[in-house]
Amino acid sequence: MAVTVLNPATEQPIAQLEQAGVEETDAAVARAREALPAWRRVAPADRARLLRRLATLVEEHAEELARIESENVGKPISGARGEVGMVAQVFHFYAGAVDKHHGDTIPVAGGVAATFREPLGVVGLIVPWNFPLNIASWKVGPALACGNTIVLKPAELTPLSTVRLAELALEAGIPEGVFNVLVGKGSVVGARLIEHPDVAKIGFTGSTEVGQTVMSGAAGTIKRVTLELGGKSANVIFADADLERAAAAAPYAVFDNAGQDCCARSRILVQKEAYDRFLEHLVAATAGVKVGDPTDESTEMGPLISAAHRETVAGYVEDVPKLFEGEAPGGSGFWFPCTLVEATNDDRVAREEVFGPVAAVIPFEDEADAIRIANDTPYGLSGSIWTRDGARALRVVRALDTGVLSVNSNSSVRVSTPFGGFKQSGFGRELGMNALDGYSEVKSVFISTEG
Ligand code: NAD
Repeated sequence: MAVTVLNPATEQPIAQLEQAGVEETDAAVARAREALPAWRRVAPADRARLLRRLATLVEEHAEELARIESENVGKPISGARGEVGMVAQVFHFYAGAVDKHHGDTIPVAGGVAATFREPLGVVGLIVPWNFPLNIASWKVGPALACGNTIVLKPAELTPLSTVRLAELALEAGIPEGVFNVLVGKGSVVGARLIEHPDVAKIGFTGSTEVGQTVMSGAAGTIKRVTLELGGKSANVIFADADLERAAAAAPYAVFDNAGQDCCARSRILVQKEAYDRFLEHLVAATAGVKVGDPTDESTEMGPLISAAHRETVAGYVEDVPKLFEGEAPGGSGFWFPCTLVEATNDDRVAREEVFGPVAAVIPFEDEADAIRIANDTPYGLSGSIWTRDGARALRVVRALDTGVLSVNSNSSVRVSTPFGGFKQSGFGRELGMNALDGYSEVKSVFISTEG
């Protein structure tokens, strides 16, 4: 059966693609398995060269890829360009990492102990619709660098950019069968990858709910899993912070990608003594977010991904008094305005991942109160701390149960630094050298020097 892909900004169809079923999934896994022995034998410098060529091809096709992503996800073209730039950087980084991820020699009695990093085999990669190409590259880069072959399943709503990436991989000279993309349903293709005995690992990014399915399904074959799941991160603003700077940045930490961001700082915690002053700046900054046509160079926020998702997001704020509600286009497109609500940390809007442009503003008393509220969530992905007191910043950083933090900044994703969650935001790390550990096994060998 074919799937129709829509542009969320216009609701117009932009592509029709055949969906894979179980049979096609099995065939892709078989292709990946066949390609594995030759791919793991490729000399490190040659594997690095192929990844470097893929990075260069992504750069050469940057505008095309950005337009595909912008049209399919509804994200502003300027943001899509930035994301494609990161995809190229990811492949450059892992090209450089191929021969820098190595084993150890360990002093032991009677000989030498050494470790080797071996590829896992065929890995299944399942990715969401919010950053389709970016998140795919975070998995594809380290997986290929370690000598694995891949079957990648993009989200049903946003398959176009990863289908194109697989074509570029072939053009780069990465052999047939090494990098396979399957367009299809999570419940069919994803589920088959999870149970397939020839798939060694699932690298998954998506909701905590589906993450639970991945984890329990993987138990049947003791598959390795990396889970990058949901978040409900806190942006903690102390009264001694540069309030204007913190307030100017805060909207973009929630409303970027229309709030469809696992790292969204969707709980804005503000110290009571600075609450009114901060709020004044926050409302002004939120009113300045430019919402509209994603093809316009100056647009900062586009629509939500689908009609169904817009309904879910609306459900969080229907009967809730708003501190502020911005403007959004009418007519076609799954638009939703930037919305600020005051909340306690027990309110539904503060507990669940809304995954839309809705921020819950929550007052707090002091440092201990801020830490308690920030940690009072099942999630632990990212977060920010704004203060001029360096010692306090470090105390709070250490006290928060979250994987990725920023101080006096809201940026948490970098090519060379580890990314991933605590608690129900998942486990395993992507990006940086850490990601390579998730795509390799450590083999320990003892070589006797006696006799
Ligand atoms: P989702 O969990 O619905 O889907 C993610 C992927 O899983 C899709 O490809 C989908 O087809 C597949 N899938 C669905 N059901 C499946 C099943 N039964 N078996 C196997 N695969 C299945 O998530 P989504 O709605 O696409 O994305 C939004 C979620 O992703 C949010 O919760 C968000 O926080 C999370 N996310 C996390 C990160 C991170 O790095 N931590 C990054 C981006 C998004």
